[in-house]
Amino acid sequence: MLDNKIPKAEYGIVGGSGTLSSDFPNNIQAQDVEIIADNLRFETPYGESPAMRLFSVGDKQVLTVKMHGWRSGVSRSDASRQVFWVFREAGVKRILSEGGVGTVNKLLDLRDFIVPDDYLDMSVRKDVMLDGRYLLIMREALCPEMRKTLIEAVSKRFDGRVFIRGTYAVTDGRHFESPAEVAMLNGHADIVGQSMCPEVYLAREIGACYAGLYFTVNYGEGIKVWSHEDMSNIFYDDAVMIGEILLETIRNTSAQDKHCHCQELRKETLLKDVYNSESAKG
Ligand SMILES: [Zn+2]
Repeated sequence: MLDNKIPKAEYGIVGGSGTLSSDFPNNIQAQDVEIIADNLRFETPYGESPAMRLFSVGDKQVLTVKMHGWRSGVSRSDASRQVFWVFREAGVKRILSEGGVGTVNKLLDLRDFIVPDDYLDMSVRKDVMLDGRYLLIMREALCPEMRKTLIEAVSKRFDGRVFIRGTYAVTDGRHFESPAEVAMLNGHADIVGQSMCPEVYLAREIGACYAGLYFTVNYGEGIKVWSHEDMSNIFYDDAVMIGEILLETIRNTSAQDKHCHCQELRKETLLKDVYNSESAKG
């Protein structure tokens, strides 16, 4: 059933492989967490949104979606636009994303955690936007304030290795990268995945901060042979911890009192006649 009224929420979580196997946040024992509404779907200019869940952490309302909104029959760019269009209408100001990634940097091992500070977009979905009203400056694209809070939350709950900066290379997928592609990325990126773009652009376009938590689930081809079993074990074993880290980060992040420059890096475009709301959808 379609829900016409988009609820207010200042926080968004774009769930990925880390929470996919779980019923996040129902799988977390927490006194201050309550599900407000479930299975919410909204009409958007890009088609019906994926199912969303609205919950509260203390007095903060959070909208969340599974697996980046990806589903069969919907292009990934439309899925992302549906999610971020709803986030904008809901008034979301802070967005957290998570996901499993492959290694590019040879120093990385499976189950390392990374909070990237930059990205390299190798996807061909370059023009994914909502209405194109803004010039998006991608300096400090991953919110420094949210990254700091996220790193503190990870360090409290995870005993393994946490890398507090790194570059996330984005490819289209769904296939993984070839040995030659991983070799080409090496030296330019540390990890490779398929979700950070266009999410990071759309977050900036709606004026929201964006940061992500990523964990290595496979080695890049040509680095070391990995098993599918390793990957699925990580997905299942770490879901509760990843959920707890996300909730802790929300608890410690204010949507009103921001100490970052994310919003100032979005400027009114000088190309208003070109990017009006109609031409941007065509
Ligand atoms: Zn920010």
